[in-house]
Amino acid sequence: MIRTVLGDVSIEEVSGAYLHEHLIIDSLIVKSEMPHIFLESVSDAISEVKECIPAGVNLLVDCMPGESGRDIEKLRDISRNSGVHIVAATGMHNPKYYEKSSRYLSAGREELTKIFVSEISERCGIIKIHSLGETLNPFERELFAAAVAAQILTGAPIITHCEEGKGALAQISELQKLGADLKRIVLSHTDKYPDHKYHQEILSTGINVEYDQSLRQSESTDRPSLELTVAMCGAGFTKQIMLGTDGARRTLWKSLGGSPGLSWLAIGWRQLLAEAGLTEADLSVIFRDNPRRFLRLSDIRL
Ligand SMILES: [Zn+2]
Repeated sequence: MIRTVLGDVSIEEVSGAYLHEHLIIDSLIVKSEMPHIFLESVSDAISEVKECIPAGVNLLVDCMPGESGRDIEKLRDISRNSGVHIVAATGMHNPKYYEKSSRYLSAGREELTKIFVSEISERCGIIKIHSLGETLNPFERELFAAAVAAQILTGAPIITHCEEGKGALAQISELQKLGADLKRIVLSHTDKYPDHKYHQEILSTGINVEYDQSLRQSESTDRPSLELTVAMCGAGFTKQIMLGTDGARRTLWKSLGGSPGLSWLAIGWRQLLAEAGLTEADLSVIFRDNPRRFLRLSDIRL
């Protein structure tokens, strides 16, 4: 089963999934300091998300954890009224999204583990964590330890944020030290640093990646994320690759007058991947089979 905001769904129900979405980012900090990613409207999200369904996408992972702009009730509303399954995240994002008084900023690993486990038992289906540099700072190491502990207790998948695409190898070595199962973890944004050798090294460890820069390359003839995806599939890593839009910017949403819209990943980009040599079978693995396998709550004990 996959845990969504409206309940658990069988993996067979997933026809296609986006792994790193931002449907609601609603907080005072974002509203005042980062208005370009302030997304508070349920109705805008419903119309944006509905366009993904004819393109075969019926599950989206929202990547804002608690207190960083997440609103589970709004996500439920969007899911109910669009027919798209939504997985919400527990975990912790970049500290810049949190109020200074937030319990997340002062919590140690045990408290964080408790929060993550309790949120998964209620409504969340994935654990989001982050690191911001080439190496992990002491707080980030506590966070990673908490996420791995919560994963062992709940069977939930983990998604990480790699700032500017970097730091993936440091994250992997920390996760290995913690004894984590790398097959149950996906790295985000690594295609912001599309060096093929770096990606070979990442994928050789068995960890998953979700490439999420496609919407930002829609107008360009230079498409490093496209070349990277095709190259990594060619190198035998198709089963470790998933896709998302990281569509937090209002300028990317069609319903807000932007372009190319969230559905473009499953339409335009998918077409470009096919033209660049990926087979229909490869594309089904990337859009459907990998997310089904990865998002499943394994050995759930709650
Ligand atoms: Zn994001």
